[in-house]
Amino acid sequence: MVQPEVPTVDVPPLTPTVESDQGRTDVAIVGGGASGTLTAIHLMASRAHDLRVTVHDTSGEIGTGLAYGTTDRRHLLNVRSRHMSAFPDIPGDLVEWARRTGRQPDAQAFLPRRDYAIYLRETLDRLRDDRFAFRPERVLDVIPAADGFELHATGGRVTRAATVVLAFGNQRPAPLSLGGQQLPEADWHLPDPWDLDRLGRLAPDAVVVLVGSGLTAVDAAVTLLEGTDRRVVMVSRHGLLPRAHIEQNSTAWLSPVPHGAVTADQLAELLRDQIAAARRQGVDWRAVVDGLRAPTQGLWQRLSQAERERFLTTYARDWEVRRHRMATDVAALLDGYRDAGRLEAVAGGLAGVSDHGHRVEVELPALPDSLFADAVVNCTGPMTDISRSPDPLHQALVQRGVLTPDPLRLGVACTPHGEVLDVSGQVVPGLHVVGPPRKGTLWETTAVPEIRSQAAALAQRLPEQVRRLTPA
Ligand SMILES: Cc1cc2nc3c(=O)[nH]c(=O)nc-3n(C[C@H](O)[C@H](O)[C@H](O)COP(=O)(O)OP(=O)(O)OC[C@H]3O[C@@H](n4cnc5c(N)ncnc54)[C@H](O)[C@@H]3O)c2cc1C
Repeated sequence: MVQPEVPTVDVPPLTPTVESDQGRTDVAIVGGGASGTLTAIHLMASRAHDLRVTVHDTSGEIGTGLAYGTTDRRHLLNVRSRHMSAFPDIPGDLVEWARRTGRQPDAQAFLPRRDYAIYLRETLDRLRDDRFAFRPERVLDVIPAADGFELHATGGRVTRAATVVLAFGNQRPAPLSLGGQQLPEADWHLPDPWDLDRLGRLAPDAVVVLVGSGLTAVDAAVTLLEGTDRRVVMVSRHGLLPRAHIEQNSTAWLSPVPHGAVTADQLAELLRDQIAAARRQGVDWRAVVDGLRAPTQGLWQRLSQAERERFLTTYARDWEVRRHRMATDVAALLDGYRDAGRLEAVAGGLAGVSDHGHRVEVELPALPDSLFADAVVNCTGPMTDISRSPDPLHQALVQRGVLTPDPLRLGVACTPHGEVLDVSGQVVPGLHVVGPPRKGTLWETTAVPEIRSQAAALAQRLPEQVRRLTPA
């Protein structure tokens, strides 16, 4: 049988590897995904300091990470180009890059995600000088030392850094399990939704169950369905898919934000009221959600711990499907598959699986009969509990008490500015975290518009901090 091809993006050569210094750097950035690369970009953009900056990344690539490492051209950004510039104060930078490089220059467009990795890499290439080094290696441990940190990497390499920025981003999904038992290794069990080769090798008429119905499941559905006769069933507890963007968003609607402590119920009510008020004026609900984005971090910090938990259990899913929306073209593709009876999303989760060798019988409470499928794909999204991570760096840092999960286990304990808090709640001087692991503290921290601001702020603070921490 001929396998349908996944349309891929040509990726230019990697940023050349630069061997750094004498094993000592001022800022070591662990992770070269969007968060690490944006931090390096902002550090390199300033000529006012002479800090040596070293990025370490396991993958050997800069700018890709989990989100932008996809090679499938149909995996689009879920944020419009005008909001994805590397620089908060130069909003047109990505659009201008797209124009220069012959890509879609519309500020409202959703570019292929892989193109975004190329943009980040080229932006860093344009700005970097001999202060910058890249080490294609996995960091296994970061040990606080008298004059900063020791970084232990694969191959037994040890480097020293005055300060460290943890930009290790999103973890792989937690293994799928039923009744406390992990799903077995089998031909039909695909634990990694980003393994596009394995998705592409499924038969062109395969029946595939995607566990999860968020943006990862949307990516997998697009890769699986386009140009094939496959059928996809998405299953999650709620069965809700991300909502779609619309062609032209109205300007963000500015809601009156309450003062002082707030409760989860009050926030839900605020959202409902504002959506209703906007509708009365002919404004779409998306403008309200976008308008609440800027105050979200402040509101989250004003929720008590108990109220944050209530938000998570009661309202988070509804907020997430409205907040992290699909690009319009992706939504249109999915609508087409649904109309053709090739895609459905059901609630109720996965109730049982029976291994039949190359196939699997899946019990879904929402369906009257069990379903014979060729594959079950884990699309549950990144795991966030750092204390359960199989990553050696996370394990080493958690064991030593340098890193600790935040109370909701959405990321790591840190201050709103990303200073890491150790197990006793003390700031670890010189150790920072940027991007998704700040989620427990900020909630709104996983997308580029927030990450670039964190990167810019860190780049401003680090020169002074290195001066303070480094003996003359
Ligand atoms: C599928 C998906 C699509 C998304 N789409 C968008 C979008 O369109 N727009 C948007 O704004 N946001 C999007 N996001 C949100 C996304 O979280 C951020 O935009 C951003 O990519 C996060 O980048 P990161 O560098 O923090 O994490 P990651 O992308 O996870 O990158 C982390 C990097 O660190 C490296 N690393 C980890 N541990 C080590 C170690 N010990 N040693 C060395 N290297 C290490 C990894 O190899 C990896 O390259 C998406 C997220 C996902 C998962």
